[in-house]
Amino acid sequence: MSTHNPVFIPGPTNIPEEIRKACDIPTLDHRSPAFARLFKPAVAGIRRVLAMDQGEIIILPSTGTGGWEAAITNTLSSGDKVLAPRFGMFSHRWIDLCQRHGLDVQIIETPWGQGAPLAEIEAALRADSAHEIKAVLATHNETATGVRSDIAGIRRALDAAGHPALLLVDGVSSIGSMPFDMAGWGVDIAVAGSQKGFMLPAGLAILGVSPKALNAMEKATLPRTFFDFRDMLAAYAAGGYPYTPAVGLIAGLAKAIEMLEDEGLENVYARHHRLAEATRRAVAAWGMRPCAATPELYSDTVTAVVVPEGCNGTDLVQLAASKYGVAFGVGLGEVAGKVFRIGHLGMLSDVMLLSGLATAEMCMADLGWDVQLGSGVAAAQEYLRNSAGVALARA
Ligand code: PLP
Repeated sequence: MSTHNPVFIPGPTNIPEEIRKACDIPTLDHRSPAFARLFKPAVAGIRRVLAMDQGEIIILPSTGTGGWEAAITNTLSSGDKVLAPRFGMFSHRWIDLCQRHGLDVQIIETPWGQGAPLAEIEAALRADSAHEIKAVLATHNETATGVRSDIAGIRRALDAAGHPALLLVDGVSSIGSMPFDMAGWGVDIAVAGSQKGFMLPAGLAILGVSPKALNAMEKATLPRTFFDFRDMLAAYAAGGYPYTPAVGLIAGLAKAIEMLEDEGLENVYARHHRLAEATRRAVAAWGMRPCAATPELYSDTVTAVVVPEGCNGTDLVQLAASKYGVAFGVGLGEVAGKVFRIGHLGMLSDVMLLSGLATAEMCMADLGWDVQLGSGVAAAQEYLRNSAGVALARA
């Protein structure tokens, strides 16, 4: 018998049946008005999810990593300085990508488990009186550690320092699941991927681009072809696409936005917060703690659970996959083995989450960890029973 247990990795997420069906469309001519009819609502919907007032949406056949590359190549030139805190695997990889493109990255080393350090960012910006820093890079939700950073705080730091740098934000594992306010936070480029909050398969990089970033695009000289925003925008204006679009995924994206808005974005965010809190209650009942150092840093899409001394988080992930057919996330980089990650984003209900927590507990017992079976599940059940939830509509 083949079963499809839910996944508890922090993306790709579980895909709702409605979205799978929406992706499954017959071939259509992407140079015909039929494509524009599909594409335009998706673009308009992304604008609402990002809370954008001005600027443009770019949807690329790519993934989050391609979104990073598109963000920097369209706004920066070789040798430009960028400021970037490093506090996890994904902030690290974005820095690496910038360095490989010949950018001069001023790195603020920050312990893993912390978020973007506002005071240090502001100090670095104030010290840069010549305004050599052209962009600040921030990972809103560091998926490796389950840490949420304060993007509004980074905007305040830029403003307090009177610094004109662009604010480029990785929202790959937050957008569509946690509040994101592109206009309010003065974000110049927001990067999302289809396989997280939008509950689609991987294959689309989704970007919101501010007027200031569009201005920078005119002067940026880093090489780009496939990711060139100018080609995309010229083609969009003519109702098309500069090359062959991932039509099925775009059809699915329009459906995903419809589902998010039917539930109500505020309700979507509240559901993620509630499931994340239930997860954290379970973690506490196991006698463990999240990798995120303090509660205001807790991510609502992923919890990296610090495992007890002498235990290895990767063992749990491997056992869950081999014995129970359930996927959790391994620890990455500096925290490899020290944590395992529970993804709680996208299509997820109370009942699905409880099955994941129960599976994690079974693995702990199998591995001989000092955890009482049922303890985390009971703590999560108590919390979920007593906190108002909005049931996930089912097909
Ligand atoms: N940024 C963050 C925060 C992520 O979580 C990921 C992937 O998990 C990426 C970037 C890279 O995205 P992708 O794997 O879609 O290229």
